[in-house]
Amino acid sequence: MEEFLRRLPHTGQTDIRLFAAAVSASNNGVVITDHTQPDEPIIYCNKAFETMTGYTNKEIIGHNCRFLQDGDAGQEARHILREAIGKGEHCSVEIRNYKKGGRLFWNELTISPVKDQDGMVTNFIGIQNDITRRKEAEEALIVERDNLEERVLERTEDLKESEAYLASIIETVRESLVVLDRDMQVLSVNEHFCRFFKSVEKDIKGKVLFEHNNGQWNLPELKNLLINVLPNNNPFEGFEIENEFPKIGRKLLVLNARQVILKGKYQDRILLAIEDITERREIEQRKEDFISIASHEMKTPLTSIKGNLQLLQRKAQQNNDTQYLSGFETAVKSVARLERLIYDLLDVSKIQAGRVAFSFTTFQLDRLINEAVSGIQATTNTHTIKVTGSANIEVTADFGRLEQVLLNLLSNAVKYSPDGKDVTLHMSILPDYVKISITDKGVGIHERDHKRIFERFYRTDQISEKFPGVGIGLYVSNEIIKEHKGTLWVDSKEGEGAIFSFTIPINH
Ligand code: ADP
Repeated sequence: MEEFLRRLPHTGQTDIRLFAAAVSASNNGVVITDHTQPDEPIIYCNKAFETMTGYTNKEIIGHNCRFLQDGDAGQEARHILREAIGKGEHCSVEIRNYKKGGRLFWNELTISPVKDQDGMVTNFIGIQNDITRRKEAEEALIVERDNLEERVLERTEDLKESEAYLASIIETVRESLVVLDRDMQVLSVNEHFCRFFKSVEKDIKGKVLFEHNNGQWNLPELKNLLINVLPNNNPFEGFEIENEFPKIGRKLLVLNARQVILKGKYQDRILLAIEDITERREIEQRKEDFISIASHEMKTPLTSIKGNLQLLQRKAQQNNDTQYLSGFETAVKSVARLERLIYDLLDVSKIQAGRVAFSFTTFQLDRLINEAVSGIQATTNTHTIKVTGSANIEVTADFGRLEQVLLNLLSNAVKYSPDGKDVTLHMSILPDYVKISITDKGVGIHERDHKRIFERFYRTDQISEKFPGVGIGLYVSNEIIKEHKGTLWVDSKEGEGAIFSFTIPINH
């Protein structure tokens, strides 16, 4: 250092010592090279440079700086440096250097030339800073950004694919679809919508749904449902409208609507699906009409068959004609079964048309129970019907209709428990209701069918072939109990028997 200072241009001794102390105490690595000697050797380095590189002063002084490159001389920063040194210019680079032992560190290096009075470069001063940590963080950031870009690209591709996929589904479904924004403006409709309503998309797109086509959709109830879809995420299903539509006439439509959310894209849209059920309803109606007419038509000849059979049966009894008696008995039973079926079918039609007449009277419930139980007991010699609990109480109800419910439930209990011997009817009085439960030890009902067995013509899969029936008894019974302001339900597990219970209100 002393030697180097001696060669510096003359300044005050104190200033030089101060500069020297500052340089040596600096946290940045400082080196000075001699440009006047061959291969520009290092003639000074401070402590920080030694610490940064791991080399000692004596391993540094006299060497050209290239020892820091350790075979990595091909890098761009090195060329920039060489060019600046050649031209005697100032320059800054970020360069890969290697510590003693070969470990890489990133060096933020600034070199400045020192010139003599004639402008000739005599030295270069290099200030260095180890920026490895920063570089690593930057590189990690770049890798992360690249990954992110890749992921965004993949995601965009996925989205594009799923949008195309969705679009193709939307265009193929045989249901009219409308997408609305939160102001009920139509954003788009699918092909089927245009085909069905004989319109083109541009006629409706951008319009408020309720104002379209002279307000054909402007139905207060529908409006209310749609307006509530978004604010409280309140979807609706199965809303039926019957309306006169331009070009296509009167149609019965069923509407479903729900909020559609595509993350990051939109979440304030409503998808409205419109299904045309006009034809289906007509077919159903024709079926209803057929059942109603057919059972009516069958009723009259059956009444005549029944009357004549009973007459013949009585005659055979009088003549003690044992040869025909058992035949007549079987025929009378079959006719009774047929008659029940016809009356049940007629009931279904009446319920559908809302034409079931009820005649309410006040009577002792026990009397009803006894009549129904003895009626069924007479039809079976394989089962015993036990009555437990008590219903010594008066009710106001339709005697005949409630008896019909009890006969249905009791005959089912016998029918569906071919191996069980006991059927129990239990009565209990609850605060405002009387409850009647009929328990059998038969085939039972899977939970998935507990609701469906009360639908018209529904029979469970596993029994439909083994037991005769048409699946209307429970439907009719349920309607009767509903009319009495009570409820009918089943508790059962497949293979473990069933308990059918109903409640009806008690007179106070
Ligand atoms: P049906 O007996 O003529 O089929 P129902 O309406 O009375 O018609 O009953 C509907 C269906 O409910 C039956 O087909 C049967 O699957 C089921 N079901 C009714 N009662 C019982 C019972 N006690 N045990 C098991 N299954 C029953």
